[in-house]
Amino acid sequence: MDLALCEEDRALRESVRRYVETTVNPVWQEIDRSGRLPESVLAGARELGLFGMAIPPDYGGLGLTVLQKALVHEMLGRGPWGLASYISVHTGIGCTGLVLFGSEAQKRHSLPRMASGEWLGCFGLTEPQSGSDASNMQTRARRHGDQWVIDGHKIFITNAPYAHHCMIFARADEGITAFLVDTDNPGFKIGQIFETLGHQGSAICELVLEDCRVPAAAVVGEVGRGFDIAKRVLAEGRTMLGARSVGSGQKALELALEYAESRATFGKPLIEHQALAFRIAQMAARTDAGRGLVYRSAWLLDRGEPAVRESSTAKLFAGEAVWQTVDDAIQLLGGYGYVRGEYMLERIWRDARVVRVYDGSSEVQQMVIAQRLRKGEIETAW
Ligand SMILES: Cc1cc2nc3c(=O)[nH]c(=O)nc-3n(C[C@H](O)[C@H](O)[C@H](O)COP(=O)(O)OP(=O)(O)OC[C@H]3O[C@@H](n4cnc5c(N)ncnc54)[C@H](O)[C@@H]3O)c2cc1C
Repeated sequence: MDLALCEEDRALRESVRRYVETTVNPVWQEIDRSGRLPESVLAGARELGLFGMAIPPDYGGLGLTVLQKALVHEMLGRGPWGLASYISVHTGIGCTGLVLFGSEAQKRHSLPRMASGEWLGCFGLTEPQSGSDASNMQTRARRHGDQWVIDGHKIFITNAPYAHHCMIFARADEGITAFLVDTDNPGFKIGQIFETLGHQGSAICELVLEDCRVPAAAVVGEVGRGFDIAKRVLAEGRTMLGARSVGSGQKALELALEYAESRATFGKPLIEHQALAFRIAQMAARTDAGRGLVYRSAWLLDRGEPAVRESSTAKLFAGEAVWQTVDDAIQLLGGYGYVRGEYMLERIWRDARVVRVYDGSSEVQQMVIAQRLRKGEIETAW
């Protein structure tokens, strides 16, 4: 078994770490206050080719492996989740469906401009009455001659206010179908834009689809097979969210360690109080364990395995672990940990809370793992 990263993967990881630490983190407070990503931050991501990380080189992207994408997401997790989400929704659920299931014409039309960051993609699955049980969606698609007419509501759709198009899932007579809908379509309207606890810099909003007419060529993949696309796209997304959680956990650990070395109580640095040293050791062990699960899931996906159980395990564990780790780090900072807008930890705490909710909540991941166990996957592939 060889667990070493190759030179190319290390270089990629270091270039993204440098970008996050030198271009993004110095302006985290500005992003948090304004809810906007400065042009310098977006330009840095474009320069690194991050908008095209999931797009094959034939269409102008970097064509990274799943493991390489996980390394990028781990490093993005060291910074504000608004940026990580802005990039990951576009490159993950925004691009992957098109890359894997789009027609050649759809790919030629959209992917080069998505790779450069000129066009942003988003993904409209969740509805006001169906989130965890997304297959229960009510949005309808009806065929009218050579067009489809879509009517319904979507909710919490990331990036939609900035996006060029959205992959919309709607129920046709043949079953759930995926459509590529331009956001300037007269039947596509942005509804409420929500204020959120964290994630500043990427917006989530309601979508209203009213008599939204698209050509037959807007169907992605086969009519009636859209839910398979959603599931495939989300499985990879779970590994990436696990990776982002690991990056945030690592950052919280580093901040806590630095503080524990410099702050003294009862005549010695915090780190020399055994109770706190043990707490930090547990933060490190949890982060390491999450990283191992994430890399394993990415490795399996790169080998063409579905990695259903493994990606759910990675997201469940890393998402719960970062929550505990950042809470421990805030505890270590005492009163300073609770001050808003000054120490990064409270921002990580607000940002990371959502990983247990979206892209399949922790409860949904446990449902998936239990189903796989009942199907005979008692031991995971390794
Ligand atoms: C910041 C953010 C960004 C998002 N971006 C997108 C996006 O880009 N595109 C998109 O389509 N969606 C997006 N979502 C939606 C997100 O995926 C859903 O919120 C999530 O799937 C949960 O659905 P829900 O909110 O309807 O909760 P519900 O499904 O109503 O669940 C409520 C609670 O009950 C639990 N629960 C539900 N059923 C069970 C069960 N059987 N057993 C045990 N527990 C259960 C859930 O885990 C959850 O804790 C986003 C959400 C947020 C917060």
